[in-house]
Amino acid sequence: MQPSLSTDLSVVTLATVPAPLLALLVGIVTSQIANLATTLYLHRGVSHRAVTFSPGVTLAFRVIVWLTTGIKPREWAAVHRRHHAFSDVEGDPHSPVLLGWVRVQLTNATLYRRAARDGVTVPRYARDLAPDRWDRALFDRGWLGLGIGLVILVLLLGPLWGSVAAATHLLLYLSLSAAINAVTHTFGARPYDNQATNLQWLAWLTGGEGLHNNHHAAPTTARMAHRPGEYDLAWPVIRALRRLGWAQVRHEKPPVRQPARARAGSGAGVGP
Ligand SMILES: [Zn+2]
Ligand SMILES: [Zn+2]
Repeated sequence: MQPSLSTDLSVVTLATVPAPLLALLVGIVTSQIANLATTLYLHRGVSHRAVTFSPGVTLAFRVIVWLTTGIKPREWAAVHRRHHAFSDVEGDPHSPVLLGWVRVQLTNATLYRRAARDGVTVPRYARDLAPDRWDRALFDRGWLGLGIGLVILVLLLGPLWGSVAAATHLLLYLSLSAAINAVTHTFGARPYDNQATNLQWLAWLTGGEGLHNNHHAAPTTARMAHRPGEYDLAWPVIRALRRLGWAQVRHEKPPVRQPARARAGSGAGVGP
């Protein structure tokens, strides 16, 4: 059987892309997939229950998070919930107000790890997230997930360019995750009265996470864009999944509309 013209064209198109450029593109796409899984599943889903996904979608997210980040959802959620409970005061695991934004930007993964392993944060803030048999067999083995993810990239692109793609993805993912904790607690607009800020340019790169001031004001609201001119790229994904019957949204809009600077504290009353 003759291959179709469109198959021929896509093979030729991919073959003509220089290997370094293809590796960078694959790294960027992998990173964006990881970012979307992080904001949709780890953040809005597991941590805040702002959206609940069907079992099939949940399993897909668990696999993606495992292969692209090696993060244990229970640990991520516990550290993040503690961040909401002590935003920018003593007890916040990664506050730029306490530590300086450069330190949080450069050492975010270490700060996260320290809180996740302190023996207190996970038992206290992730009581509802006991490991199941999938966790025990696979998802709690973060390095195994990352290793399989790397092998997939190496099989696709070869040892050198597969490793370049993996390094590109990890660098982008770590930098952008850190920027949410460091930059959007330091620079940008504060339409709600909390220490977090909104930065639309960062929201474009992080599936809406850059609208962090909105999020701290209404953590259980699935949509992070609250005003005209704000764009949350993960929201259309949630809407599409909801239309298919694969996602349920807790709040689409902030539960209580409040004028700018009228709210004391971050996320009080609507936390996880
Ligand atoms: Zn925050
Ligand atoms: Zn949050």
